[in-house]
Amino acid sequence: MEEKTKAFLFKVARRGDRGVWRRIEIKGNQTLADFDRIIRLEFNLDDFDHLSTFYSGKNWARSGYGIITPEGTGEGADIKISSLMLFNGTINYVYDFGTETHLYAKLEKISDVEPNVYYPRTVSQNDPHYKFCEDCQAKGKKTIAVNECYTCGEEKERPVYICEKCSGSGKHEDHYLEEILY
Ligand SMILES: [Zn+2]
Ligand SMILES: [Zn+2]
Repeated sequence: MEEKTKAFLFKVARRGDRGVWRRIEIKGNQTLADFDRIIRLEFNLDDFDHLSTFYSGKNWARSGYGIITPEGTGEGADIKISSLMLFNGTINYVYDFGTETHLYAKLEKISDVEPNVYYPRTVSQNDPHYKFCEDCQAKGKKTIAVNECYTCGEEKERPVYICEKCSGSGKHEDHYLEEILY
């Protein structure tokens, strides 16, 4: 196969959360490091701290393609997309070996590379199911939440979502916030 003229279209989703997905297209001669980078961006996974790996089958520690560092190095980094052995058309991904986030990528299509297109690229994604800011809601306003406050969530024993503006208010000062993935 002419690996550099073929584009691989994957549907990438979080395991156990089918609501959030991205269709990502990547060229055959691009690498797992390229795939890793766009996945980190698309799924709000940091690109400066944790390691990741792609793997086939069930056990990432045993059947991994090798680690990838946030800098795009590591033994798995240079493996080409066209050389992957896809089990059931799927490759799995784990990010952060301490607090694991699991995703999977299902190959949907292989087509010819289009001219003047930058790969890898995100071609489509799920419709967002917006969550609303509960601080604003208390004041009778409906504002889309951008963060989840884990500090308040622990106290209230349920998820607490807040908007950009309320995130900067004194109430959530020094709280642990994480961006919501839509
Ligand atoms: Zn708000
Ligand atoms: Zn809070």
